[in-house]
Amino acid sequence: MAKKRTGSLKNIVPLMSIFPVVVFGIVISIVTSMSFRGIMYEKIEGELSEIAAMILDSYDAMSPDDYHLEQVGNVVAFYKGDEEITGNNKLIDAAKKSTEAEVTIFYMDTRMITTIREEGGGRLIGTGANSVIVKDVIEGQSDRFYNDVDINNVRYYAYYRPIINSDGSVIGMIAVAKPLAEVNELVRKAVLPLVFVTLVLLVLTGLISLRYSSTLVKTILGLEKSLSHVANGELNKSPDDRILHRNDELGDMAKSIVQMQKSLHALIEEDALTELYNRRYAVKKLSSLMVMADTTGQKYTVTIADIDYFKKVNDTWGHDTGDDVLKAVAYCLKSYIKGRGFVARWGGEEFLLIHENYDLEETAECLKILQGDIYNIAVPTGEYGDIVKVTMSFGVAEGMPGLDMDSLIKMADENLYDAKEAGRDRIVALYPEDRNND
Ligand code: GH3
Ligand code: MG
Ligand code: MG
Repeated sequence: MAKKRTGSLKNIVPLMSIFPVVVFGIVISIVTSMSFRGIMYEKIEGELSEIAAMILDSYDAMSPDDYHLEQVGNVVAFYKGDEEITGNNKLIDAAKKSTEAEVTIFYMDTRMITTIREEGGGRLIGTGANSVIVKDVIEGQSDRFYNDVDINNVRYYAYYRPIINSDGSVIGMIAVAKPLAEVNELVRKAVLPLVFVTLVLLVLTGLISLRYSSTLVKTILGLEKSLSHVANGELNKSPDDRILHRNDELGDMAKSIVQMQKSLHALIEEDALTELYNRRYAVKKLSSLMVMADTTGQKYTVTIADIDYFKKVNDTWGHDTGDDVLKAVAYCLKSYIKGRGFVARWGGEEFLLIHENYDLEETAECLKILQGDIYNIAVPTGEYGDIVKVTMSFGVAEGMPGLDMDSLIKMADENLYDAKEAGRDRIVALYPEDRNND
């Protein structure tokens, strides 16, 4: 027994098409937002160092002389030349106002002036800088960025730069800082649209690929349905037009299915020599006609037509000539029956004709046309140089409600027998009760 199938393209294909898009989308989002964060931080770092440079330039503009500390009693003051820095908050407050960055000037590691306020509202001066920073900036004599500095319990993103006098000694430093939360918010705001756009694109791509894959699956399921029709012997249900008109391999498959149906149809329902329907098909067709006629009351007749003295044709000119005669007769029957009903090869040189919407007399009358057509057949015999002419005998029977197929065929056969008995080349169409029963 065949193993039950547990998988389905219906599930696998959409998954296969969505999975790479999702993975790709997530990787792209992470990589872009990370590199974007990097760019944003670099930008903020640049901004902070520019503010520091601007403030130091302003002090240089106030006085070109060195920085120094003066102490009178308990009061300490920080000077740039003659200008007292500690007495003047204007410059750093203005810088904070325009840049939103906190500014602090240190004498060595001690805050001399700052824009940072304590809880009480006073400026956070007189306090010391973080020892790591002192080591890096004052002792190391170089500027530094820190991405997490705790000043008075607030976390900052800060830039420190040493203040160096003309003799090369470090006298203090300047710090420009922005609260970490603010910077993060800024980065978040900048990255968010990017992530949003990426997500929208991700969803769009996913939908498009899902749509495409679902069409693909539908097409494959359509093909599978057509194939199962063929497997069940239904040869006239062709694949969907939409699939047949596809300009790809699936379209080709659909066309192959149609071709397969035609070939199978020919194998099962056609007679190879004459290309007429075979007996098997004729029985199928006649039985469905009889069922239909029983309900609709449609009239129809059955005729058995048999070539006269056909054995003699074979005996005289050979089997091949016999075949040629059969083909010529078949061609003649086919063109005659068009629009009247259908014809099939019933056996060796016997044919079955169905006339639809004809009664017995109408059929007998009409068959005279066929009889004339048969007279016109002239089959050459090749090496013998003869022309073969044939005649046919016809036995006709009319369908009646309730009559079974065997009885109907038997009636036609009996009339054919009478036609042969009476000398052949004739049409006998008698109701059973009218037949000569002696
Ligand atoms: P009648 O007028 O009584 O019908 O005589 P007949 O000779 O036609 O009938 P009979 O039944 O004696 O012979 C039929 C012949 O048809 C016998 C058989 O060899 C031949 N035949 C049947 N099928 C074929 C075929 O496919 N090709 C050829 N060449 N001959 C065939
Ligand atoms: Mg016969
Ligand atoms: Mg015959």
